[in-house]
Amino acid sequence: MHTRRIGLLLTCVLQLFAVATASAVPPRFQLVPLGVLGGEVESNSSCFLLRHHEAAAPALMIDCGSPVEGILRWEDLDRPGSSWRGKMERVQRVLLDVDAVLLTHTHLDHLFGLVLKSPLHLDGPLKGHTTEIWGGEATLSTLRDSVFNGRVWGDFTRLPTPEHPAFRYREIKTGERPEIAGFRVEAIPLAHPVPALAYLVTTGDVSYLHLGDTGPSEEVWSKARPLLRARRLRAVALEASFASAQDGLARRTGHLTPASLAGELAKLAGTAPSALAAAGAAGLQPMDAARQLALRIAASFEGVRILVHHIKPSSFDDVQAELETLKAAGLPIEVLQQGKPLDF
Ligand SMILES: [Zn+2]
Ligand SMILES: [Zn+2]
Repeated sequence: MHTRRIGLLLTCVLQLFAVATASAVPPRFQLVPLGVLGGEVESNSSCFLLRHHEAAAPALMIDCGSPVEGILRWEDLDRPGSSWRGKMERVQRVLLDVDAVLLTHTHLDHLFGLVLKSPLHLDGPLKGHTTEIWGGEATLSTLRDSVFNGRVWGDFTRLPTPEHPAFRYREIKTGERPEIAGFRVEAIPLAHPVPALAYLVTTGDVSYLHLGDTGPSEEVWSKARPLLRARRLRAVALEASFASAQDGLARRTGHLTPASLAGELAKLAGTAPSALAAAGAAGLQPMDAARQLALRIAASFEGVRILVHHIKPSSFDDVQAELETLKAAGLPIEVLQQGKPLDF
């Protein structure tokens, strides 16, 4: 009895020590989710601000669905009776710190905010401030030919003046690691109906991996696996658009469900996700198989934050319940919330 008590006490002390050392790691990134849902709702759509933890500026924006609504919510500015002029001045001050926008792909829910906010560069604090718009070749040519083309919207690479335009296009090529807003950024192709990229963002020797829309993929996980093993991956953000019962729809549209998300995390951990298929073949429900997989891989993710976003609002409750199952199996999953910053 006495020995058991000492053993229990020792376990508690060790657990407290583990928590203390984990929280003692100084954060290097601040991620401000400005839009987190997977379309359908125009006020909360894929948009993320990534900042150096120690410095307010410069900042990177990843995708640009609902930047203005996100900033209003983050700064709690949308109060009854508050003046639009005051709110928009504050929004412009925040956007002034954004040196660059990284676009994952051209789907509208990831870039309509870029279109709507562009006139903010015509006057006020943002006038004369040029934001670099980074993306793959296909993304930039679609912006040029189909969006900022003078018919759908003005060409903000020439407005307000060609010398000091609102935007400048910058192509990111796979295999290169340009410095953007003080970060090293690497683009990695994903699986989606249009060309789409993940961004591996590094400062010093630690990284944040951001996946926008994607179905099951490979390359991104083989790139990130050594970082996970070396404990240099602080967080990975990835999507879970649909519930596992909507797997066919998710596959057809290039998206993930909580069950296929567990399969993707297994690839990152270096465990064959075929366990998922095998369990399916053995008659297990997708989420039962995913739960078993989660139990097997959970230890690989100690100290890493798994940040889930792009959930379709109409599937939200089911997706959230399934993510809870994976969380209960030990995966450190968090569902991102608009305006709620995270430090890691
Ligand atoms: Zn999307
Ligand atoms: Zn998409």
